Amino acid sequence: MAEVGPLKLEKSLELFEQAKGLIPGGTLGIRRPYNFVEGEYPIFFDSGKGGRVTDVDGNEYIDFLCAYGPVILGYREEEIDDAVIAQVRDKGFCFSLTQSHQNALAAKLRELIPCAEMSIFVKTGSDAMTLAVRLARAHTGRTGVLRCGYHGWHDWCVEVKGGIPEKLYEDVREFHYNDLAGLEKLLAEHGNDTAAITLTPFGHPLAAPMQEPKPGFLEGVRALADKHGVVLVFDEVRTGFRISMGGAQEYYGVTPDLGCFGKAMANGYAISAVCGRADIMKKAEKEVFVSSTFFPNSDGYVAALKTVEILERDNVLAAVWDKGRRLMNSLRDAVSNTAVGAELTGIPPMFFITFKKDEAKLYRKRRTAFYTQLVRRGVFMQPYHHGYVCYRHTREDLAQAVAAAREALGAAGE
Ligand code: PMP
Repeated sequence: MAEVGPLKLEKSLELFEQAKGLIPGGTLGIRRPYNFVEGEYPIFFDSGKGGRVTDVDGNEYIDFLCAYGPVILGYREEEIDDAVIAQVRDKGFCFSLTQSHQNALAAKLRELIPCAEMSIFVKTGSDAMTLAVRLARAHTGRTGVLRCGYHGWHDWCVEVKGGIPEKLYEDVREFHYNDLAGLEKLLAEHGNDTAAITLTPFGHPLAAPMQEPKPGFLEGVRALADKHGVVLVFDEVRTGFRISMGGAQEYYGVTPDLGCFGKAMANGYAISAVCGRADIMKKAEKEVFVSSTFFPNSDGYVAALKTVEILERDNVLAAVWDKGRRLMNSLRDAVSNTAVGAELTGIPPMFFITFKKDEAKLYRKRRTAFYTQLVRRGVFMQPYHHGYVCYRHTREDLAQAVAAAREALGAAGE
């Protein structure tokens, strides 16, 4: 196997040293070096185009992290950027009143997403999920939440509890993906005071294999929510505008009461949405307050409208599934030919290579070796987070990634 040495990362490391004195931790949360392989991954990117990114030292990578999900088409997608630039230059985008794009976007979401009778637009996935929980509490007059999956950094759901009084999350209980019996048990105990069940409709836990819903799981959750009068919220922040135009709810055929969308909806511009049943959403007419200086800014709406237009016009998601299918087939072949405990999970638009846990904890060494060898070969993925396929990944990109993965799997066993 060709030996590949470490990347030159001087500029990244220098900027990081400087950043640590200016910004606590140098960079925020999930973008910190310990979430990759320290010393092997770049810390600062400079630019991106299509399915590739370039770091500040000039190294180029095929990028399968896609900015943690928003990049569904590719970086610097000209049609979208041009639409936003025209809005900013010719009309303006930040005003004391709302511009009209919100109507067009809400109407489009109603057409595409099964639960979306009405929509409220905010900025981030965390905003949307927090708003959904507030609507559910106002609608039911209850406080409890049963949750499954990552929903963002806000007080009620973040894993790291520093700085958060316990009373702000004491009514929130976790259940495991695909564990209907566990959810049923929680509801038997707390059903009378449960306002919302929140879950990612597809299982994508951190640093663990991805899970599709077992037959009957989502239907069972829906039935339990109905039985206990609980609002069912799907967190479609990752699945929305990626696995299907109507989200996982359309793909799996189970409609929640509320659904939260963000990331891929605008190919990187900041906008997210809570969509759902009109009677619940209308709690935001008076009882529930939603407002922020930047929520109505038109850059995100224009980007979302253009992104959705392109996704529909060019049948983008079918192409993404196709590319992902080809990639996963080759990766599965590579993974099955090794004895390092590597596992490939996911569905074609979102996939993950993890390593089976063993008592000697060799899996950690293997994971580090694998992801080190990948990034050295110009393939950017994250050891603890699944990858994404975007529209601009080319056949050559995918072939190069598979070749790199084969070599990296070889190195993981050494
Ligand atoms: N829900 C899910 C499923 C997510 O993946 C994320 C972000 N990774 C969020 C919510 C929070 O979104 P944001 O980071 O935009 O606040």
